[in-house]
Amino acid sequence: MSRAPEFAIYVHWPFCKSKCPYCDFNSHVRAEIDEARWRHALLADLDHYAGETGGRAVTSIFFGGGTPSLMSAATVAAVIDRIAARWPLDPAVEITLEANPTSVEAERFRDFRMAGVNRASLGVQALEDGALKFLGRAHDAREALAALDVARRTFERFSFDLIYARPRQTVAEWEAELERALDLAGEHLSVYQLTIEAGTAFATAHARGDFALPDEETQAQLYETTQARLAAAGLPAYEISNHARPGAECRHNLAYWRSADYVGVGPGAHGRLTLDGSRIATRQLRAPETWLAAAERQGHGSEERVTVAPPEHLEEVLMMGLRLAEGISRERFRTALGAEFESALEEKRLAPLIEEGFLVLDEQHLAATAAGRQRLNAVLAALLG
Ligand code: SF4
Repeated sequence: MSRAPEFAIYVHWPFCKSKCPYCDFNSHVRAEIDEARWRHALLADLDHYAGETGGRAVTSIFFGGGTPSLMSAATVAAVIDRIAARWPLDPAVEITLEANPTSVEAERFRDFRMAGVNRASLGVQALEDGALKFLGRAHDAREALAALDVARRTFERFSFDLIYARPRQTVAEWEAELERALDLAGEHLSVYQLTIEAGTAFATAHARGDFALPDEETQAQLYETTQARLAAAGLPAYEISNHARPGAECRHNLAYWRSADYVGVGPGAHGRLTLDGSRIATRQLRAPETWLAAAERQGHGSEERVTVAPPEHLEEVLMMGLRLAEGISRERFRTALGAEFESALEEKRLAPLIEEGFLVLDEQHLAATAAGRQRLNAVLAALLG
């Protein structure tokens, strides 16, 4: 039986207890939050988008942030209920909530489950206290293990994130940490390489020479170790940083990578909608208080809505789709761009990338090989010029 076409809804909660030094997400620390106002504004924003996309079956809802596990379960329930009232829900709808693995938040997992959340994604990041301290996390390893245990018992599905390529981390240390992670993992694991993002506290500290990242060769070894060990454990990479047992992939993120339609509500959220045959990009106001005021004043927090021109749409479909091991199916490409790969891409750019083993093109799909995914930015630059 084929699944309904993906149609996803992303809800952004922009607040955190403290700001992690590596984080460049739209996350903010506030002494006080008037949650009732936020709840009403999010519901108004949903109503606004329901007016345009109301008949479509929602295949996934994702509460991201920020730290959405700091929302009350009542707000999470109100958002899910409003979505269910405005759109039909696919019977297999995936409803994910990102959570930090502190004891306070774990205590609320049951309430989130009652509200309708069926998948949790926990920001564990490391299983060593020293590394957690360096990463500025509010939890220690013991607390993370306890929260994972509660998540396993509470939700139908759960995943957690780890960050590797930390300063002075050796391949042997990372292998040992990965083994511990595999003992704790369910069917999905996200494993990110530490990168220094502009404007973060780490960017300043790194520029000052406070710490250094592992050299390129060690980074490559850490990446390869991750791929090999997780594949051997039955959790192959289905995307650059995401691993799952086949069938247990995060449906919501697949919707992004497959260039499906999604609504984004809350500060800074992006959306992509196909309306009357045009691809529309939506962007919400980024600053929390500005977004809240706009949503209260005009019933939505959108800052911008632009038509994505075909060349940008092509670029986006390739940038997103080549992250996936499955690549981009010919059918999806045809539906999105109304063209075949051979006519949309330049032969003189495509052929060398295939010959060098970075891309594969066959009757079913265009995909990046493992080597291609490891250096995807360079592959895309070569492909698109
Ligand atoms: S908890 Fe997550 S969103 Fe919040 S500051 Fe830390 S990494 Fe960023």
